[in-house]
Amino acid sequence: MHDPSQQTLRVLGVPQELDEGPEVLRERACRQAGIRPQDLVGMRLALRSLDARRSRGILRFVCHVDLVVRTVHHSSALQKALRSGRVREAPVDQALEMPPTRRGGPPRQAVVVGSGPAGLFAALTLARNGAGVTLIDRGASLEQRHKRLVPFHRGGELDPDTNLLFGEGGAGTYSDGKLYTRVQDPLEQAILQELVLAGAPPEILYDGRAHIGTDRLHRILPALRQSLLDAGATILWDTKLEGMGFRKGPARRIDRVFTNRGELACDALFLALGHSARDTVEALSEQGLELAAKPFQFGVRIEHPQELINAGRFGEHPLAANLGAASYNLALKGEADVAGAHTFCMCPGGKIVASISEPGLLCTNGMSNSTHSSPFANAAVVTTIEPAAFAPFGTGPLAGLAFQRHFERSFFEAGGSSYRAPAQRVSDFLAGQASREVGRTSYTFGTTPGRIDHLLPAPIRAALARGLQRFDQLLPGFGGNSGILVGVESRSSSPLRMVRDRDTYLATGFENCYPIGEGAGYAGGIMSAAIDGARAAQVRLSQSSIR
Ligand SMILES: Cc1cc2nc3c(=O)[nH]c(=O)nc-3n(C[C@H](O)[C@H](O)[C@H](O)COP(=O)(O)OP(=O)(O)OC[C@H]3O[C@@H](n4cnc5c(N)ncnc54)[C@H](O)[C@@H]3O)c2cc1C
Repeated sequence: MHDPSQQTLRVLGVPQELDEGPEVLRERACRQAGIRPQDLVGMRLALRSLDARRSRGILRFVCHVDLVVRTVHHSSALQKALRSGRVREAPVDQALEMPPTRRGGPPRQAVVVGSGPAGLFAALTLARNGAGVTLIDRGASLEQRHKRLVPFHRGGELDPDTNLLFGEGGAGTYSDGKLYTRVQDPLEQAILQELVLAGAPPEILYDGRAHIGTDRLHRILPALRQSLLDAGATILWDTKLEGMGFRKGPARRIDRVFTNRGELACDALFLALGHSARDTVEALSEQGLELAAKPFQFGVRIEHPQELINAGRFGEHPLAANLGAASYNLALKGEADVAGAHTFCMCPGGKIVASISEPGLLCTNGMSNSTHSSPFANAAVVTTIEPAAFAPFGTGPLAGLAFQRHFERSFFEAGGSSYRAPAQRVSDFLAGQASREVGRTSYTFGTTPGRIDHLLPAPIRAALARGLQRFDQLLPGFGGNSGILVGVESRSSSPLRMVRDRDTYLATGFENCYPIGEGAGYAGGIMSAAIDGARAAQVRLSQSSIR
């Protein structure tokens, strides 16, 4: 309930030493904002990030602190802080549940396709607000998914419907569960709260490097599934969307969908397919779903001993051991003749996995457990490629998929056609020479020394080489011979967008189809996908019921 005698102010950039507690932080935030302790009603940590600039001997936290204060007293110091931008009104969070006044007519038979974060949170938002919801996924429930992955990891036998990308929880189910691709959306806290209720640690509500880890994700997903069932949704596993059926008439109004298990009635379709459902995208495109090519990230995975990253980030700081495995986030801007490069999806204490859903292709990604306990640190090192670069590989907006497939196949073959991955020492990649051996990596299927410098197209090789040289200056040893490149990392983002209206979220030319999440081109991580799904559901719910 809003109390007009109080207001919440967000104090930005409050430093906190590693050994300081909440009292010190509270005092410092009050001082920084010019708030008298007697005017303070409450405090909440909104964000805590690690500031690790070894070159300047800095290793501490930097926090955004929300202070609930009595509105009666605004000191001149507070006025000044507000004017300077160091303090501002805290944003108002939104709930998944909408006030009845904002709801139009909820769909009676919404079909949500895909149980990744976008589909899960779209389904939960729809069901909590009175819609009839059926959530379908081509893959298996978590328990079955785990079992069905065994033949792949033991013998390379890939199931095209249940794998590391498809099945309950979507692509992030076997991941680091990083939650920091945040987009400053009012729905963010509601989603994080939902994860905490399902068993995630409460620190995710403010930790700037929050991650859940695969082990904990596997305890959280069944609880989220139960919330969905409690809200009245139906869930169908091993159920693959194959096509849409339309009501007779001039406009494209879906009234049923076709699946491998029969037809389902549908008066609102949410497509949360992820970035790897190439077969479904091709089928839906043939039925009139408008697609557009978009830039995407392409490169390789890089792995180092975790110790090297810890030393580079934390140095000899006596309290560094309390911080766990160090992570990094490195970027270099492009220049006129060479594109920029950046690291992405860094997994401290993690392992490299084969994130594929089609046999005969290879694509790497990273995962880790909540304790970050493996001795390896891996990340994607990628560059952004523009549609012009992949246009020669195929026709229209599907050219990006053809480009990905081409390189995924050549890396698969270079690894020996057995899901082993080609690998090259960073120092050899930079020197343009073969690695005689690459030593042990964490990659599930093992590696074979390969010429990654030859396998990558020249402009991508040039961008990555320039990036790696710069990153070696920022993190000593990064570009040395203990760094190993493993590839290919071709699916860090989607090469296409399902075109939708900015306000209604409706797919172009459709009356009741909502493309959402990463595969639709509107998200790039667990949080942004979840937010996009929940937001699209709220947008649909706020519309009056469709004729
Ligand atoms: C190994 C790995 C590690 C990652 N680590 C992180 C991380 O730490 N932090 C982070 O933010 N992001 C991470 N990501 C990215 C993140 O997982 C995705 O951005 C996110 O899952 C996208 O969510 P989504 O709901 O849009 O799609 P997805 O999660 O991809 O879900 C799509 C779902 O749709 C289903 N589906 C597809 N086609 C059909 C069909 N025809 N019929 C029925 N169902 C269908 C699939 O089975 C799948 O379950 C990682 C990804 C991978 C692969």
